Amino acid sequence: MLILDQVNKIYEGRGGRVHAVSDANLTVKSGEFITVLGPSGCGKSTLLHMLGGFEPMTSGSITLNGKAIEAPGRDRGMVFQHATLFPWRTIEANVAWPLETNGSSKKQARVEARELLALVGLDGFAKSYPGELSGGMRQRAAIARTLALEPSILLMDEPFGALDSQTRELMQEELNRIWQEAQLTVVFITHDINEAVFLGDRVVVMSARPGRIISDTTIELDRPRGDETKRDPRFLEYHHQFWSLIREQMVMPGSKGTPAS
Ligand code: ADP
Ligand code: MG
Repeated sequence: MLILDQVNKIYEGRGGRVHAVSDANLTVKSGEFITVLGPSGCGKSTLLHMLGGFEPMTSGSITLNGKAIEAPGRDRGMVFQHATLFPWRTIEANVAWPLETNGSSKKQARVEARELLALVGLDGFAKSYPGELSGGMRQRAAIARTLALEPSILLMDEPFGALDSQTRELMQEELNRIWQEAQLTVVFITHDINEAVFLGDRVVVMSARPGRIISDTTIELDRPRGDETKRDPRFLEYHHQFWSLIREQMVMPGSKGTPAS
């Protein structure tokens, strides 16, 4: 279980003081898929970097399975928008790499890498190089590599943000399947409302900066989810609900609205 208690992040730099995350409280149960939705610049990545242990908190506490998060660790796997694979290694060798550096024999690492590649639907591409794959396939490989060390939780920062919209929808379905098959716990950041609703057991909405958690909604859509999910009237209701919330957070120049914060 992941617990955030009154987490704050204030950046102090030459550009001044930026309050990026404000009093965040959140509990993520084992096996849950949480999506975090919020306008650009609201502090989503900052929140995820603190969960990863890459960015220190200003105040508050984060614990994963009872252990305080203070530094990066293999109990947390990160997936970013751009897959960072070694271009000179095959896909299989990329996925085997964390296993080898973790002490597995080369042979054992390759066997496990093959299983992971099958899980993410890349069976036929083990001997290909990253440059030979499409963006979606590279992201699958990155997911497989992150799963190699069996993290307790997968932290994903807009992982499909650079993909074209069709590939993106397919990857969402694929991630759904992988999450169910591998029984993962996921915190997934996005600014895309449809993506958040489609993937999440719960959708957590952040306000404009300083990012506060302004809603936490259980998504009552059947699983497994697929194309028909998006035609479910409840899907559209959720979309409308979150869009209204996010709209309030986005004040355009010249508009009369005032932000809720
Ligand atoms: P999001 O991911 O929601 O778009 P970020 O977490 O990246 O938002 O950024 C939140 C705010 O914190 C932004 O105003 C951003 O400019 C600022 N910020 C992010 N990283 C740093 C940093 N390393 N130093 C100073 N300010 C930062
Ligand atoms: Mg971001």
